[in-house]
Amino acid sequence: MNVVEGNGARIPAIGLGTWELRGRTCARIVEQALRLGYRHIDTAEIYDNEREVGEGLRASGIKRDDVFVTTKVWTTHFMAKDLERAAKESLARLRLTEVDLLLLHWPNPQVPLAETLGALARVRQAGLARHIGVSNFNAALIEEAGATCPEPLACDQVEYHPYLDQADVIEACRRHGMAFVAYSPIAKGRVKGDRALARIGDRYRKTAAQVCLRWLVQQNVSAIPRTSKLERLQENIDIFDFELSVDDMREISAIGSADAR
Ligand code: NDP
Repeated sequence: MNVVEGNGARIPAIGLGTWELRGRTCARIVEQALRLGYRHIDTAEIYDNEREVGEGLRASGIKRDDVFVTTKVWTTHFMAKDLERAAKESLARLRLTEVDLLLLHWPNPQVPLAETLGALARVRQAGLARHIGVSNFNAALIEEAGATCPEPLACDQVEYHPYLDQADVIEACRRHGMAFVAYSPIAKGRVKGDRALARIGDRYRKTAAQVCLRWLVQQNVSAIPRTSKLERLQENIDIFDFELSVDDMREISAIGSADAR
């Protein structure tokens, strides 16, 4: 599996998003994804599915150390007195002793960033998370976090797809050695109807979704598409046997600006 590096973390280039996956469906999709070769599962305290993600992990039979598990602390637990407890509760639901990556889910201006980052760093130092990072941080917040956090930040997880330009955030991540992880990488399914992506895909015998995911990975971005359907699990990871040309990459990057006009 290709990986994207961020301050020592090696994040698989394709992961499974699990937002809105619940109950049996969630456990079954996680299990199947791991059997198909996915090695990164993205969950969060607020998704209310960490238990099922853990079940799927165990049912897959894949060794714990071979899977990269990300979870996120919700904004109501950003005070120093709450953060470690929230992390421990996530671990208890997942039935893991540590996660690979623990993220601050969204910025919370109500709590000083230095306080939250200090607490997040202590969670790493206590061995509860191999790596720590942030999510939904803009370029200015990355600068602030990069300068403040006592431990290196592995990544920023942000919405990114051809209809949303994130060049400044990607640039800020690179300046701080952080990986960029794209959420909603297929624009919540919107790319399926995109004629330009489909036309490019025809040349490679790939779907519009596969072209979109390949476009992300070729930018050294990690992507975490979600699906509740087994056949799409396979489709979304089957992107490592072709390479988009420089012209195709450029054309896809221009979709967003054409879209904004
Ligand atoms: P995605 O861009 O992954 O799109 C998911 C939607 O696309 C679903 O409706 C799915 O439907 C459909 N889909 C999946 N694969 C295909 C395909 N090959 N062709 C056509 N349609 C497809 O959206 P998400 O918003 O879920 O983002 C992915 C993950 O990112 C989340 O699950 C979550 O883990 C994370 N995330 C993080 C956030 C944050 O604040 N940090 C915020 C939002 C998401 P179906 O199930 O029917 O296949």
